[in-house]
Amino acid sequence: MTNFEPKKLNKNWTIDDSISAYGINKWGDKYFSINSHGNISITPNRESKKTIDLFKLVKEIKSREINLPLIIRFNDILKERITELNNAFLKAIETYDYKNIYQGVFPIKCNQQKNVLEKIIEYGDHWNFGLEVGSKSELLIGLSLLENQKSLLICNGYKDKKYIETAILARKLGKKPIIVIEQRDEVQRIIEVVKDLRATPILGIRSKLSSKSSGRWGKSVGDNSKFGLSIPEIMLTIKELKKANLINEMKLLHFHIGSQISDISVIKDALQEASQIFVELSKLGAPMKYIDVGGGLGIDFDGTKTSSNTSTNYSLQNYANDVIATVKDSCEVNNIQHPIIISESGRAIISHCSVLIFNVLGTSHVSSQVNIFDQKNQSLIITNLIATLNQLKNLTHQKEDLSEIIELWNDAKKFKEDCLVAFRLGFISLEIRAYAEELTWACAKEIENQLDSDEIIHPDLSEITETLASTYYANLSVFKSIPDTWAIDQIFPIIPIHRHLEEPFCKGNFADLTCDSDGKLNKFIDNGKIKSLLNLHPPEEDNDYLIGIFMAGAYQEALGNFHNLFGNTNVIHIDINEDNSYKIKNIIKENSKSEILELLDYSSGNLVESIRVNTEYAINNKTLTIEEARKLIDQIETSLRKSSYLSE
Ligand SMILES: *Cc1c(COP(=O)(O)O)cnc(C)c1O
Repeated sequence: MTNFEPKKLNKNWTIDDSISAYGINKWGDKYFSINSHGNISITPNRESKKTIDLFKLVKEIKSREINLPLIIRFNDILKERITELNNAFLKAIETYDYKNIYQGVFPIKCNQQKNVLEKIIEYGDHWNFGLEVGSKSELLIGLSLLENQKSLLICNGYKDKKYIETAILARKLGKKPIIVIEQRDEVQRIIEVVKDLRATPILGIRSKLSSKSSGRWGKSVGDNSKFGLSIPEIMLTIKELKKANLINEMKLLHFHIGSQISDISVIKDALQEASQIFVELSKLGAPMKYIDVGGGLGIDFDGTKTSSNTSTNYSLQNYANDVIATVKDSCEVNNIQHPIIISESGRAIISHCSVLIFNVLGTSHVSSQVNIFDQKNQSLIITNLIATLNQLKNLTHQKEDLSEIIELWNDAKKFKEDCLVAFRLGFISLEIRAYAEELTWACAKEIENQLDSDEIIHPDLSEITETLASTYYANLSVFKSIPDTWAIDQIFPIIPIHRHLEEPFCKGNFADLTCDSDGKLNKFIDNGKIKSLLNLHPPEEDNDYLIGIFMAGAYQEALGNFHNLFGNTNVIHIDINEDNSYKIKNIIKENSKSEILELLDYSSGNLVESIRVNTEYAINNKTLTIEEARKLIDQIETSLRKSSYLSE
């Protein structure tokens, strides 16, 4: 018996069973669900009822010879996210009778792809949505893409003289850059450049907040944070700006308390502190006009609506309400004009629109089949293990009473450990050791067959599921496509994009293509908890098994690296039409092997050349025929032009 036979196949498995097994109704929001064919469907917004079958879409993309792994970006979802963010603030402004506007910016570092930024600018134009830049290169992107003269270009990050000069000159182009002072030494540099260029920038100041943050980036705020000015530094800066006659340009207060803030109370505390600093800056004589609340707006990866790391205990509307209400309160009490509200929400805008699809190349699992072994010379360990297995087979296990099973499992484990010791000391052969391991796995399988899923989770039996789990080999590099799962244990929803009319009775996790033992996906969302195994379908001989990683549109592409030289995957942008057909808007081709090699200073030509020289030696030495040499060089030349991933 192999692992891919269920103990009882649930013939009545329905889509609803799949929905609850994967929790897609919780994390999928309105965007992702399962359709009547058992495939994942994508619905960018409820009103227009546009919808598309993701599995069919991937099949059609593949038929164009665009290979997996593949990122599909749904422009309609991106548009919906931008609309929702702006509408949430509009609604809050109305609710609280706030006397100014919201004018957001997108932080470029979340996704720097040209096509993505162009779309954000197009969809956000209606609200004069702008960009946030954190480096000189990002500034150049911002300057070239942002045409709307009302949109803001928030300039963060370390600033040398050139950065400041470029930003100031951009104002003369009719753009609206705001230079945010993040470090004390930037003040003098700004004053110098202003003198040289005889032009003034709009200025902002980034404040360190003392309010406690939480979550993964909790330590990046507070007095020791990398960015921002402390209160005494702010006081000094104001003094210097006054002296340089620049105080009239100081118009913005900025803070950023980290990304994916899960707990709304953390955001509220920060908002209160910042609003108070804003009021004080006004009192000190700066004509304060903008408050920039930074990023941090989280999304609910696991659908639990809690303050766990992978969720948020607030909605987008709650967030907008709190920002507006808190700023308003501080201004009213102090009789100060309500500022324009800016947020730099990156993750919240860009996460949902991207789906990463990969195929499974194969699987492996321990064999619970016992190969009949020569009965002579049988060691005591083997006799004991066979006896244990037979006892398990003859057991009539009563529900509620696991004691006997646990005892037999502990026996089996003990015999296996004894076997290892005996092997180390040279008392048993490799053959006997193999037999002992097979028998132990057979015991595990027997127990799994006898127990229900609520019984197998007993702590004393928990290794059984792990022992019997399958590894699914993913045509993917975790380091390239989903690096946060490796770097910071970020968890994304992962689910097959088809076959939801079948019970996913195998338990497994994923190993990627790299030879790095960290290259795996083994943390999955489970109703607010984390589980190490995902329910999966048995692979089918002739059909691809396709898995989607969802809500991974922020940061992953930018942070991905070329570990083991797996390159960029194909990326496709899709518009869904009113009649549920689709248009492919952009195809950004994956890297070929030669492109990746060239990034590292190798020339494909030289590489082929040196291998060719080697073949000539071998031909001379008669270890290779001319025919074989030609075949090898042909293969290498073709391979260099092709994907770094496995393709048919
Ligand atoms: C990274 C960053 C952001 C984006 O944060 P999200 O949590 O992704 O919205 C915004 N502002 C600054 C200054 C940042 O460094």
